[in-house]
Amino acid sequence: MRIDDDLKLTFRDVLIRPKRSTLKSRSDVSLSRIFKFRHTKIEWEGVPVVAANMDTTGTFEMAKALQGNNMLTCLQKFYSVKEIKKAIEEGMNPNNIAVTSGSTEESLELLKRKMALSSDLKFICLDVANGYREDFLQFVRRIRKEFNDKIIIAGNVATREMTEALILAGADIVKVGIGPGSVCTTRKVAGVGYPQLSAISECSDAAHGLAGHVMSDGGCTSPGDVAKAFAAGADFVMLGGMLAGHDEGKGKIVKSNGSKYIEFYGSSSLTANKKHYGGLSDYRSSEGRVVRVKYRGKIKDTISNILGGIRSSCTYVGAPSLKQLSKCTTFV
Ligand code: 5GP
Repeated sequence: MRIDDDLKLTFRDVLIRPKRSTLKSRSDVSLSRIFKFRHTKIEWEGVPVVAANMDTTGTFEMAKALQGNNMLTCLQKFYSVKEIKKAIEEGMNPNNIAVTSGSTEESLELLKRKMALSSDLKFICLDVANGYREDFLQFVRRIRKEFNDKIIIAGNVATREMTEALILAGADIVKVGIGPGSVCTTRKVAGVGYPQLSAISECSDAAHGLAGHVMSDGGCTSPGDVAKAFAAGADFVMLGGMLAGHDEGKGKIVKSNGSKYIEFYGSSSLTANKKHYGGLSDYRSSEGRVVRVKYRGKIKDTISNILGGIRSSCTYVGAPSLKQLSKCTTFV
């Protein structure tokens, strides 16, 4: 047993210190970035705020709403090939989605068929709860060989050494976050986790040294948290709970005490397991919760709030673009 007693921080432990700035207005701030990746020649230009590949955020409707702001949506993995084909035909831009896959043999076959739908599909999201497994690293290596011209997102991990291992195995973007999610119970069930701000800072430092990128995943509860994630070094920030509760998530609306709510559940909650697998295997426990979030109508205003918040952070520290936010930030 060993105790690492270095200070580890999460979003609520810090604030961004204001600095003198020459920016006159939030509208002077550009949130769009042009990304070049370690393993592929493809570039991607967009606003790197990403909808999580959860059942009620990684939807076609969400993708269509977010593409207007040139944001990215990681589609939930249970959509069929046919459904994705139809969504693309109906106006979903393949440039703004990632096709999500698990790490089994069947999921590889399915992924091949999905990626064959359009040459404009650029992103693959390999998402497993525990990215520390040796077989996951091997899977990433295989996917890199199969899809050498695609941008591979892989995770989740929360520490430096595994970020490096995933990038060396073929990931362009490492998804960072063990336990911070709003409907995640891993910290309670398994006692495992890592404070998210420190995880981002350490993993981005490791990734950037290898020309890789990181996507912070989980734990943001306000636009200020999203800005802190970018300021800590995240290249992309993935959101679940902050995007939940809208029409675009297609969740079930329930009425209670005169108010409307939408059900939002973790991908490994009992609800999700029942929906997709008919229940939980008896050797594992659920690591996700089901919550009701206030129904908030269309996503448009929520997106404006998030992007407005990040712009504001940039003006407070004198960062003319999102890319510079991290360099300009001192946390207190
Ligand atoms: P949020 O933005 O809601 O705080 O976090 C979203 C992230 O939580 C997702 O992208 C995913 O990584 C994680 N997550 C979603 N469902 C579950 C779950 O059931 N269990 C765990 N451990 N994590 C989850």
